[in-house]
Amino acid sequence: MKAAFIKNHGSSDQLLVGDLEVPKIKTTEVLVKAKYGALNHIDVFLIKGWPGLKLSMPHVLGSDGSGIVKEVGAAVTTIREGDKVAINPGLSCGKCEYCLSGNQNFCKIFSILGEHKWGTYCEYFKIPEENAIQLPTNFSYELAAAAPLAYLTAWRLLKTQAKIKKDELVLIHGAGGGVSTAAIQIAKYFGAKVITTTSDQEKMKKAKAIGADHVINYKANPNYSKTIYSELTQKRGIDVIVDSVGKLTLPISLRLLKPGGRLVIPGATTGPTTEIDIRQIFWKQLKIIGSTMSNQKEFREVMNLVFNGVLRPVIDKKFQLEEIIDAENYLNESKQFGKVIVEIS
Ligand SMILES: [Zn+2]
Repeated sequence: MKAAFIKNHGSSDQLLVGDLEVPKIKTTEVLVKAKYGALNHIDVFLIKGWPGLKLSMPHVLGSDGSGIVKEVGAAVTTIREGDKVAINPGLSCGKCEYCLSGNQNFCKIFSILGEHKWGTYCEYFKIPEENAIQLPTNFSYELAAAAPLAYLTAWRLLKTQAKIKKDELVLIHGAGGGVSTAAIQIAKYFGAKVITTTSDQEKMKKAKAIGADHVINYKANPNYSKTIYSELTQKRGIDVIVDSVGKLTLPISLRLLKPGGRLVIPGATTGPTTEIDIRQIFWKQLKIIGSTMSNQKEFREVMNLVFNGVLRPVIDKKFQLEEIIDAENYLNESKQFGKVIVEIS
């Protein structure tokens, strides 16, 4: 089968497109003939590699995907050959206390599809039955591939972890990312007021178009945190901040929160270490909350809103599988607003 994979770590030019064997499924898995995959920042980290990461090469990347079920294992009961599906990229053991109590993303062996197991940038990918979800008739394969990782992440972090409420003021750093565009829509769905930041005029317009109430250009306005605090909150501070940027923004986030405010952290794209003023945390009695991926219930909740058109993934650009290097470079340079997808077949 045609596949995009790496044989070595390094930069995006390590990505190859070639022929690999079709994966063999277990009795509890389904084999999907892929239509589309969608890019995520984990691709960039995986291509680069990190200390302790040992992949058996060649390794197929890709955490999001959609397609048609080609084959089902003997023990599969809820999915049939020919079903159109999207997938939950969160993989867990299914047997431990966390998995059995519905907290799959606390599982000791929790991982993301494409991280340790072959992903979706290939003609046929396999996935456990419980990770496949049927698409409504006529639902687009493009949107089905673009939605899962970004929306399940944003849903859990705002609804479950931050417990976002109507009329609260939410700041989402970096409007262009997949999780951020999903978070803007989900925050609006819960009736919150959304402030977001971005680096160019075009993205400012797009952020407004999907519902952001205030968009700040942090490049044009290096003092943007002051503008947010003094002008947009009248020195009251922010209720909930979504910070997946990390190193560059975390100290600013702590300063901008109001007393009792909540900081939710689903990632750290600019780096994992930074210096913070701990006094901010106890003086203002802040809550700092981590969030990663979602459980199966949250995945299905948010996908139903996507399927009903209440939440609509923003697709920025479509590449062919053969153009995977260009696609990864586009993502790496943060040129996108929303999701970058690849057409596989
Ligand atoms: Zn488990």
